[in-house]
Amino acid sequence: PVHTGSKPDISREKSAELYEKAKTFFPGGVNSPVRAFKSVYGTPLFIQKGDGCYVWDADGNQFIDFCGSWGPLILGHNHPKIREKVTEVMQNGMSFGAPTALENELAELIIKNNKFVEKIRFTSSGTEAVMSAIRLARGYTGKDKIIKFEGCYHGHSDSLLVKAGSGLVTFGETSSQGVPKSFALETIVIPLNDKDAIKAAFEQFKDEVAAVIIEGIPANNGLLIQDQDYVEFLQQICKDNKALLIFDEVITGFRLGFEGAAAHYGVKPDIVTYGKIIGGGLPVGMYGASAEIMGHISPDGGVYQAGTLSGNPVAMAAGIAQLTELSRSGFYKDLNAKTTEFAESIQRFATARNYKFKVFHVGSIFWFAFTDKEAIKTAEDIDPQSMDKFKVLHRELLNRGIYIGPSGYEVGFVSAAHTKIELEKAKRAILEGLDVVF
Ligand code: PLP
Repeated sequence: PVHTGSKPDISREKSAELYEKAKTFFPGGVNSPVRAFKSVYGTPLFIQKGDGCYVWDADGNQFIDFCGSWGPLILGHNHPKIREKVTEVMQNGMSFGAPTALENELAELIIKNNKFVEKIRFTSSGTEAVMSAIRLARGYTGKDKIIKFEGCYHGHSDSLLVKAGSGLVTFGETSSQGVPKSFALETIVIPLNDKDAIKAAFEQFKDEVAAVIIEGIPANNGLLIQDQDYVEFLQQICKDNKALLIFDEVITGFRLGFEGAAAHYGVKPDIVTYGKIIGGGLPVGMYGASAEIMGHISPDGGVYQAGTLSGNPVAMAAGIAQLTELSRSGFYKDLNAKTTEFAESIQRFATARNYKFKVFHVGSIFWFAFTDKEAIKTAEDIDPQSMDKFKVLHRELLNRGIYIGPSGYEVGFVSAAHTKIELEKAKRAILEGLDVVF
């Protein structure tokens, strides 16, 4: 149905044509599932170009982008410093499968500015980084089981594609076909924000747990901001049980600051994983820990992990250029202040109109939730019905030139390229969109 106040739909003719063709090549027409627009209105938009905080689709529609390639683009699209550095490095070839000085340069930028890692290993995706961190934790502790949380996403490796089983503490069930049940038996899935659940898990599987893995701030199933006290408790219970605490900071790393969510909470995870931002828009992941723990990685230690394109010079160049910009004084302060103002002004409007709508936010991450709850800390607290409202909002936003991720479970990102002008424009569009939804 067309709502009063709705804008006419943008043209998606070219995108639709490309999508028909893509469907003949790729399952669902895409190379990553959420891109298929399955839970929002219309054909997926084929993006042709990005610049600053803007993207343009194949039909020539222009959008202010809050997806930022799902997080890496904290400086916006096509940042000149990144483009220049990548172009310069590319002149010397693309990849050698041998050490390069560029790897040292990016590693130094990371390690010198981060108290959580003494040694690191680059990979080519977040998935690989987390998968390797889990293997390291198992190799280091000599234990097999891991504890993960319902509502946290850690990439698509087998041990982590596991959802909660029934009951307070159970082995998980696979959440994807093709993951052996025997793998899921090594993953214990418990709810977030529940101290009793994790205590019970450690009691039931005494001396069997290698690691507890949590997203620095869970941001893949809504934005589930955890209490300080709970995160400190996780650290303590891991220590008490000689299990490692892994912070998956693929989203939060270099998004909340150079030391990510770990510094935000003031805890010290045993292993951290980063991705997205450290690659400046090219494929890079990374895991790191103390020199002692990292000493278990091959060739020094017995935990094997490798990669043809790991640390490849072009991706390193993009990361170096991006992190150099981020290291400028005041960068995060400005970005976070801008996001807070954006989120709070939308919230004031929604509250004044009694809309069941909350903007949860931290750093430059925000999430639109159709709820009247003051806080949402677990996956269970999200009402699946509310996604119908998101679907309406998403359509209205596209029709007003605002691009956000095509799922109500995904967070949005503000970049340094969003100026007051675009944020004001986006805010107006969001308020109009909310008027249509409600
Ligand atoms: N961990 C977290 C917290 C993520 O958000 C993601 C991706 O969104 C991953 C791991 C996997 O990273 P990638 O998609 O680069 O494999």
